[in-house]
Amino acid sequence: MTKNHFMNEALKQAKIAFENDEVPVGAVLVEHGKIIAKAFNKNLTLHDPTAHAEILVLRQAAEVKNSSRLDDCDLYVTLEPCAMCAAAISLARIKRIYYAASDKKFGAVENGARIFHSSSCHHQPEIYSGISEKESQKLLQDFFRLKR
Ligand SMILES: [Zn+2]
Repeated sequence: MTKNHFMNEALKQAKIAFENDEVPVGAVLVEHGKIIAKAFNKNLTLHDPTAHAEILVLRQAAEVKNSSRLDDCDLYVTLEPCAMCAAAISLARIKRIYYAASDKKFGAVENGARIFHSSSCHHQPEIYSGISEKESQKLLQDFFRLKR
């Protein structure tokens, strides 16, 4: 299975979010070439400001693995993680992050707070961006155009 395959799976989650009127961001967590968790944003559905796709996959995977440490896991997410998610990703000790679109406003990986570069961050995952970037951007743009 390739990076593009896993990002496509994350995009499928983002599309389900769109259909549910949630901000279209999706994520999957991969361990040894297998998806062990997938989720999309559920802020409205769960009435939970922390219910970002990344947080939801971390919770699912931690439950599956019976561990709060997800050392061998790679996260695929359709949008650059925010500060909250980046901090959670670091705490979970995720190995690699692959994200699609960058987020100049709320992103905190290569934009804004750049959480992984802060002195209080003790685990820095490898970061790869730009896979399926256009497709993810278009989904978000279509969503926010409808909202206006
Ligand atoms: Zn987030």
